[in-house]
Amino acid sequence: MRFEPVIGLEVHAQLKTKTKIFCGCLTAFGDPPNTHTCPVCLGMPGVLPVLNKKVVTYAVRMALATHCTLAPVSRFARKNYFYPDLPKGYQISQYEEPLAEKGYIEIEIDGQRKRIGITRIHMEEDAGKLTHDPRRGLSRVDFNRTGVPLIEIVSEPDIRSAQEAAAYLKQLRSILRYLDICDGNMEEGSFRCDANISVREKGERTFGTRTELKNLNSFRHVERALALEIDRQTEILKEGGRVLQETRLYDPDRDRTRSMRGKEEAHDYRYFPDPDLVPLKLHKDWIEAIRKGLPELPMEKKDRFMDAYGLPAYDAEILTSSRDLADYFEHCLRSFPRPKTVSNWIMGPLLGLLNTRHLSIQESPISHGALAELLALIEDGVINRKIAKSVFDEMADTGKRPKAIVEKKGLVQVSDARVLEAAVQQVLRQSPEEVQAYRAGKTKLLGYFVGQVMKATKGKANPGLVNEILKKQLSG
Ligand code: ADP
Ligand code: MG
Ligand code: ZN
Repeated sequence: MRFEPVIGLEVHAQLKTKTKIFCGCLTAFGDPPNTHTCPVCLGMPGVLPVLNKKVVTYAVRMALATHCTLAPVSRFARKNYFYPDLPKGYQISQYEEPLAEKGYIEIEIDGQRKRIGITRIHMEEDAGKLTHDPRRGLSRVDFNRTGVPLIEIVSEPDIRSAQEAAAYLKQLRSILRYLDICDGNMEEGSFRCDANISVREKGERTFGTRTELKNLNSFRHVERALALEIDRQTEILKEGGRVLQETRLYDPDRDRTRSMRGKEEAHDYRYFPDPDLVPLKLHKDWIEAIRKGLPELPMEKKDRFMDAYGLPAYDAEILTSSRDLADYFEHCLRSFPRPKTVSNWIMGPLLGLLNTRHLSIQESPISHGALAELLALIEDGVINRKIAKSVFDEMADTGKRPKAIVEKKGLVQVSDARVLEAAVQQVLRQSPEEVQAYRAGKTKLLGYFVGQVMKATKGKANPGLVNEILKKQLSG
């Protein structure tokens, strides 16, 4: 029997608004505990929430980017439960009437595209943060995060492997970042994921019993926890057993999942419409204005980079991994219109440099203008490729323009035939044995001679010319 997993993901994305969803407190991360609180987000009696328009704008952006249908009227509901990080005793969320439904995104695996359905997108508020100090036997609560806006994005159970789940999450995060509405940092918790998974016999039309995996704090954890759970459920089914519906926690230290609570202990949240908030009605013109303002999305950009610039899929994928990197590439291209050359220099030396120095593309010590200038110097034969790399390194260290470095250090390529002929003669005179060997058929020695001439000219010789002259003089 062959089994297949069925996976659906619930993602919580923290929105990058300045202030919280229902009050004017800042959403700033990393400040001293309880410095961004007020009677509204602390849930004092008698206060009223007021919806932050920016939150709706951001959520609508995501809904449009994922081809969802927006509800003309949606509603906020109270999700009731007790926990010390939830001062009101309920979380304001959307339940029966969410903002948006029935969308999809596309993922790509090994060059194959696949649609993953989006069931719904709704807005809600975040809870506070508890930190536990078991040694002193106490817990602390920080309400700075209480009321920070979230959108929850629920997928259809369309995902069929751990690899597809990771691809879906990465694509979702990339879209959120392109839209500039969430910073997508999984480790810091601004992008969180719960994974629902069941296993069934291939060809079966109904789904099996699912478990829900929590505590997935990185893409690696998601993939690993799913792989473990696929194996566990498959083993149970193979032996004719039954999977229990439960919530399981992933433990990265022990590399296993364990049961957290079963179906019987599942919460009943007793949702009901929040009487403090009026139904949310979206105006058609307002939605259309947001739609017009949407940027080109990652997959579209990748396709365009392949079509318009003739780049391989691999290059296009990397260059569109962030909007800023894609912009850098296209700015560079405006002054130096050779896409593959620009791509090679960005993907190789530039990303290597940024990686080792832990810098983002916006922090690059080499501007797109400076890189284009360097590439033009190579193209025009002013410097050779090898010197160009040393100029690149110096640009990275000093932030100077390539022309200035080349002039100051006298790195201009030597293409004067008479100068090079003299250098070649000198080298040949100094290596009589190698010359004899070469003429006796050991033509591999050409590289040795080229190297010697390069050394004699401090790397500045035009390598093409040196080759020509060497061959001529050695055959003569
Ligand atoms: P809940 O309200 O308990 O979270 P939902 O019906 O909203 O349940 O589903 C949550 C997620 O679980 C969705 O992403 C959905 O695609 C997924 N899901 C539902 N049924 C299954 C199943 N049998 N196997 C795998 N995933 C499932
Ligand atoms: Mg759930
Ligand atoms: Zn507040």
